[in-house]
Amino acid sequence: MSRRRKIYEGKAKTLYEGPEAGTLVQHFKDDATAFNGKKHEIVDGKGVLNNRISEFIFSKLNTLGVPTHFIRRLNMREQLIKEVEVIPLEVVVRNVAAGSIAKRLGLETGTRLPRSIIEFYYKDDALGDPLISEEHITAFGWASPQELDDIMSLGVRVNDFLTGLFAGVGIQLVDFKIECGRQFEGDMMRIVVADEISPDSCRLWDVKTRKKLDKDVFREDLGSLIDTYRDVAQRLGILTETENALTTGPRLVK
Ligand code: UDP
Repeated sequence: MSRRRKIYEGKAKTLYEGPEAGTLVQHFKDDATAFNGKKHEIVDGKGVLNNRISEFIFSKLNTLGVPTHFIRRLNMREQLIKEVEVIPLEVVVRNVAAGSIAKRLGLETGTRLPRSIIEFYYKDDALGDPLISEEHITAFGWASPQELDDIMSLGVRVNDFLTGLFAGVGIQLVDFKIECGRQFEGDMMRIVVADEISPDSCRLWDVKTRKKLDKDVFREDLGSLIDTYRDVAQRLGILTETENALTTGPRLVK
């Protein structure tokens, strides 16, 4: 056995060198963080669930012709992805006011926005990921105007897909965050959806009860995060009974 080369370690995921040139292995950890890392806990099984939920969503996006970095899932916690040049933006798409937009603009949480709104945040932990405009992005060269068009169009397509997917299982998609990267193939470059899409990066509310089914459960101490994510996975039809048992850890057998 030889040790794999670690390329990058983030708060919730680690990237390792992949088996072939141009690929990486994305490993989902159990770490839950919020408020720019100030709140941190280990939630047993979260990595397994996010790996499966993100696999499910990215596979469907690939099938629909929305380009992503995802190739295939390798095991419980890891997936094979295409190596991309990460664009240092968090692209947030919002349908309903919640979180930072509610605070910033004094909107009542739960208010439907006049239309879906795309926001950009500059990815920089030291600066606390500040909100930026398209002007900043093109002026500082983080993305070209053409790339920005592609990024916005990916945001809209992912929003359309996720809204329908979650509505079908009784969940309202309030907002979500994606990250994008440049994928190079020979002389060609295209912008693809990278990172992950999971309850860590979306706001999801139960349509009937308004119960929160996402990382706000951790941010606001609303209950068991793992039970919440398992509920989302089960509604999407991802987990079988047996697999469900695998994510719950050891149980006392009487
Ligand atoms: N989000 C994320 N990572 C971040 C910041 C936000 O995945 O570093 C997601 C968050 O879960 C929510 C959406 O982006 O679904 C909008 O987040 P918001 O700007 O309201 O920030 P927050 O309330 O999380 O501070």
